[in-house]
Amino acid sequence: MTTEEIKTINDNIENVKERIKVAAQKAGKSLNDISLVAATKMNNSERVKQAIKSGVNIAGENRVQEFLEKYEQNAYENAKIHFIGTLQANKIKFLIGKVSLIQSISSEKLALCVAKHAIKNNICQDILIEVNIAKENSKSGVFPEDIHKVIENLCQIEGIKIKGLMSIPPISHNVGENLCHFDKMRELFIDISEKKYDNVCMDILSMGMSNDFEDAISCGSNMVRVGTAIFGKRPYIID
Ligand SMILES: *Cc1c(COP(=O)(O)O)cnc(C)c1O
Repeated sequence: MTTEEIKTINDNIENVKERIKVAAQKAGKSLNDISLVAATKMNNSERVKQAIKSGVNIAGENRVQEFLEKYEQNAYENAKIHFIGTLQANKIKFLIGKVSLIQSISSEKLALCVAKHAIKNNICQDILIEVNIAKENSKSGVFPEDIHKVIENLCQIEGIKIKGLMSIPPISHNVGENLCHFDKMRELFIDISEKKYDNVCMDILSMGMSNDFEDAISCGSNMVRVGTAIFGKRPYIID
């Protein structure tokens, strides 16, 4: 990595944190109330390591194979690892014991599969339920009207613990575009918290990416997943 690349990642992270701080303060919170997940897909171990050195403490990965390669190379050092990508049931076994949170649990079936593997490994896996808030055909996730039923069915299952909700609304190009979706997510999040399901801790509301994390924070997000604003544009689009 060139010194210029290192400086770019460093400056970008500082800039993102400043933006988070400003948005948090507007929402009556502080920088420390908002977790920053660096979305590291398509960035190699060296770049991931640099982001961690520059002050990121959670890395979010999308692809199991790519994650395992970087994991073998000790890319994540002391940072936590979250899985945030589309997950196939047959790949779950590779994540168990390695990632602290699976954010992208998009169906009951997937959650049950995670539970099975977690029990086999004698751990309890923290998960978020992914909500397809805009009901897009191209996206996975539980529909908003089904979320209570799904949580009811999963809350007593051994091997998993539901820690909150995650959402990937449509790609936004302008400030304010996703506010309606973020707002709906906030409502769901509060509804579920108030129901006080056994074994469910609504601690985390994961929403907001490079283009819209300020809007997400204004609607109660306490975990943002930022890729482009940290690492620059990816060479092509996945997920
Ligand atoms: C890539 C990705 C992000 C980050 O997107 P940017 O627009 O690059 O910040 C966040 N969440 C998920 C699930 C992603 O796949």
